Formats: sequence, C-alpha cells, structure tokens
Amino acid sequence: MSSKIGFIGLGVMGRPMARNLLKAGNKVVVYDIFPAGIKELVADGATSCSSAKGVAERSDIIITMLPDGPDVEKAVLGPNGVLEGARPGSTLMDMSSINPIVAQKVGKACAEKGVEFLDAPVSGGEPKAIDATLAIMVGGDQAVFDKLSPILHLMGSSVTLTGPVGAGNMTKLANQIIVACNIAAMGEALVLATRAGLDPEVVVNAIKGGLAGSAVLNAKAPMAIARNFKPGFRIRLHQKDLRNALQAAEEYKVPLPLTSIVQGLIMSLMNEGKGDYDHAGIVTAIEKMAGIEIARPAESTEHLRIAAD
Ligand code: NAD
Repeated sequence: MSSKIGFIGLGVMGRPMARNLLKAGNKVVVYDIFPAGIKELVADGATSCSSAKGVAERSDIIITMLPDGPDVEKAVLGPNGVLEGARPGSTLMDMSSINPIVAQKVGKACAEKGVEFLDAPVSGGEPKAIDATLAIMVGGDQAVFDKLSPILHLMGSSVTLTGPVGAGNMTKLANQIIVACNIAAMGEALVLATRAGLDPEVVVNAIKGGLAGSAVLNAKAPMAIARNFKPGFRIRLHQKDLRNALQAAEEYKVPLPLTSIVQGLIMSLMNEGKGDYDHAGIVTAIEKMAGIEIARPAESTEHLRIAAD
C-alpha cells in the first residue's frame, strides 16, 4: 500500500533515503532549506513544498533527516514547522543523529498535539543509504514501531526497536563512541607499524580475521593507507555526535575518558581546517604527533627497523 510521506532534509543521506521511498511507489513530498536536493527529488517524481509545515499538512508520515538537534527543533517546533501542519494521528519520524534529550523534548511536543513520534537514527553512511541497507535504531512505542516498520525496511536492512523515545539516539551515541575510538586506536596501531618499517596493508590483512578485525578496520584502514579522506562521514558530524555523547554522559554522571580524548583529537583537526575530511582522517591527528604518515614502504623491508635509528 502506498503512503503519503513527507521528507525534510535532502542532504547526503536524505536524498537516497527519500529516493528509495519513491521507488517503492509512495507519494513523497519534500522540503529542504537549499534547493539542490529538492530539484533532484522532484526530477525523480517527488512533489516539493516551500516549508516543513506544508510538508506536514500533505503527509501521513513525516521524516526529518537533518544535521543536529537545533535543526530538528527549528524544523519541527519552530514557526512554519512540522507541528504547525501535522494532523493528529500522523507520525513524525526523526532519523537525524541528535542528543537523546532533544529527541525526548520533540517527542513530548508531538504527543501534546496527538502526533506519534519515533527517533530513528541510522548507521551505514551514504553507500548503505543508497542500497537501502542502513542499520536503523529506533526509540518509541511498540505499536508505532510496528506500524512504521514496513517504511523503515524500505531504507534499512536492520531495524531494531531499542526502547522508548530517545533510546534510538542513545544507541546511536554508543555506535559513534565505538567507531570514533576504533578509528583512533587503528591510527595508533598503524602509525606504530609504519614507524617500525612494516607495511600497514600487510599488518591489516594479518589481523583483520582475528579479534582486532572490525567493520571500521575494513572500511577505514584502506582509506588511511591510500590517503583518501574524501567524505563519507565528515569529521565535523562526528564532533557533533561525540559532543552529544559527552553531554548525555554528564547528565547521567558517567565518565567517558576515551571519548573525551578522541573528541580532543577531533577538535584539533577542526582547528586545522579538516572538519570536512572523512572521519578516517582522525588518524592524521595521531600521525601529526608521531611526525609520520601511515604509508606502505617504498621498498620491501626485510627487517624490523631498530627503535633507536
Ligand atoms: P547533510 O548536511 O548532508 O544534510 C542535511 C540537510 O538538511 C541539508 O540538505 C540541509 O540543507 C538540510 N537542513 C538543515 N536545516 C534544515 C531545516 N531547518 N529545514 C529543512 N532542511 C534543513 O547531512 P547528512 O550527511 O545527510 O546527515 C544527516 C544526519 O544523518 C546527521 O544527523 C548525521 O549525523 C546523520 N548521519 C550521517 C551519515 C553520513 O555518512 N553522512 C551516516 C549516518 C548518520
């Protein structure tokens, strides 16, 4: 059955996600503050609207895919926002990665207007948004989740209800902590291996099938070795996610020592103008401290380099 779906936020992720909803035969109404994404989706068969309010008026399900919490608050709670147009009984699904506390605030405002709400951030980046194989972590009521599940499966291959509203974003923060610390640890390991004269590609191939193997190692080590930091997932977005994690940790009085250190590395990269590097570029902060880049040796090395050399 086709649904009337509103989609707000047509950036790197929103465009392919909205496109997959269209491909499945749904009527999709779109809005973004910039025209580029709107033009693309209209060419694919979507209808455009000039405000978030207009999108909500024309939709049974409204999806937001925006950079951060303040953007979601503006688009949903602000003037000409979703809640000025949404009908009671409609559902708002925010798929942005935001502070769980903001997700709860937005969920409460929706409930007061009789609008159902799920927070449903994603993991997997642009390639998985294109393939509709995102991992989607959802917070909200079971009944709303069950109703929206078929729509979520048009965008993702792993769709999990993780708890009440806010739980989706809390799960996403857990994801982002693990990914950021993993990239930093990979940077330390490969800088050390390179300094010792080893070929980092051989090192990665040797360890990827063991306990140190990970999706992060598979995706990000080749990028670091090839010096390819084209995004992908931008360092500035990861800075936003770790900031949200550290804010949540303060609320819950939980120390996050590793996350705090990696956030410091990320801040130094932002100050160097590397905010738009892919987050694989976190390794460059470690490289700078060591004064060496992760690289394959020019010639094959027969022996480990002696540390005092
Ligand atoms: P993006 O910056 O490419 O796109 C965001 C879009 O939102 C932009 O087109 C922008 O113009 C629009 N926008 C901002 N404020 C708006 C408003 N008030 N009303 C309407 N449109 C507005 O970001 P993205 O990479 O698509 O990421 C979106 C979210 O998904 C972020 O929270 C990000 O952390 C998360 N995410 C991104 C990736 C990735 O690989 N890019 C992966 C997983 C999760």
